[in-house]
Amino acid sequence: MPHPSTWLKPIADGLYCEPGDFFVDPLRAVERAVITHGHSDHARPGHGAVLATRETLAIMRARMGEGMAGRAQQAASFGERVQIGDVTMWLEPAGHVLGSAQVVMEYRGSRAVVSGDYKRRSDPTCAPFVPVPCDVFVTEATFALPVFRHPPADAEIARLLASVALFPERTHVIGCYSLGKTQRLIALLRAAGWTAPIWLHGALVGMCDVYAAMGVALGDLRPATVAAKASLVGQIVLAPPGAIADRWARRLAEPVVCMASGWMRVRQRARQGGVELPLVISDHADWDELNATLDDVGAPEVWVTHGREEALIHEAAKRGITGRALRLLGYGDEDDDAAAAA
Ligand SMILES: [Zn+2]
Ligand SMILES: [Zn+2]
Repeated sequence: MPHPSTWLKPIADGLYCEPGDFFVDPLRAVERAVITHGHSDHARPGHGAVLATRETLAIMRARMGEGMAGRAQQAASFGERVQIGDVTMWLEPAGHVLGSAQVVMEYRGSRAVVSGDYKRRSDPTCAPFVPVPCDVFVTEATFALPVFRHPPADAEIARLLASVALFPERTHVIGCYSLGKTQRLIALLRAAGWTAPIWLHGALVGMCDVYAAMGVALGDLRPATVAAKASLVGQIVLAPPGAIADRWARRLAEPVVCMASGWMRVRQRARQGGVELPLVISDHADWDELNATLDDVGAPEVWVTHGREEALIHEAAKRGITGRALRLLGYGDEDDDAAAAA
């Protein structure tokens, strides 16, 4: 049985599956790509053939236009086996954003799983992560430090709604990424009983439309851009992270600036970004989720694509798991405005 390191190779263009002649989340335009999810650091424009879930393909088309989302697009359902060259591959849910998938590859009896980005917390807007036993598990490590332990999202939403009740004369504006975080926040607010309209910065509208078209109910959404300042008093407005500290937000009524991100666990980051109410809500696995996942998949070897690889590899070694840092450059900026969010 060939070890996955003999057929799955991290090269400059990304993770290359040699016997299938395709890349997983390539960092540059390539002939054949399998895409885990629609965030811009994983789904890049201009590939030849693209295989992904139908949701990810729809997200890619909405973000980059039909012509750049792959000349030939192939949708695969979760669990559907696809033969590519000598490799059998299929997708399993990653629980990160709508359509997000892990890529399972089998070659001559050896199996590797590329997680893409993932989380283990429940998320009403996407299918939950499924652990798949494998010989090599390729993981992210965005929040792989013991300091990163995300609180329950419900508790963060409760803090937000308490603040809204406390300051009825102010407008709460929440910075959130356009793909995933925005829709999860809306769904969490709806689950917490917030039935009022939720107001959106124009940059968030398109992706909410894609979610709604895919059957994710988000309730009454309205454009904040054209709304009069007075009608937003006591309301919740969502905006991309780059807009919350901007002139755009300052025209709202005494805005309470909030930010929903796993990075809000670091107080200094919140202070630097001018965030009054940091909400620790993440679409990435925290330290405990990462370690639990390594145990769940039971792989003797874990490869780390990006993030705090040293800490995770060190911790895994204590349990006899061999770690390898792939040092693939180019992952980690979820959205174009991620730098502003940091
Ligand atoms: Zn992502
Ligand atoms: Zn990512």
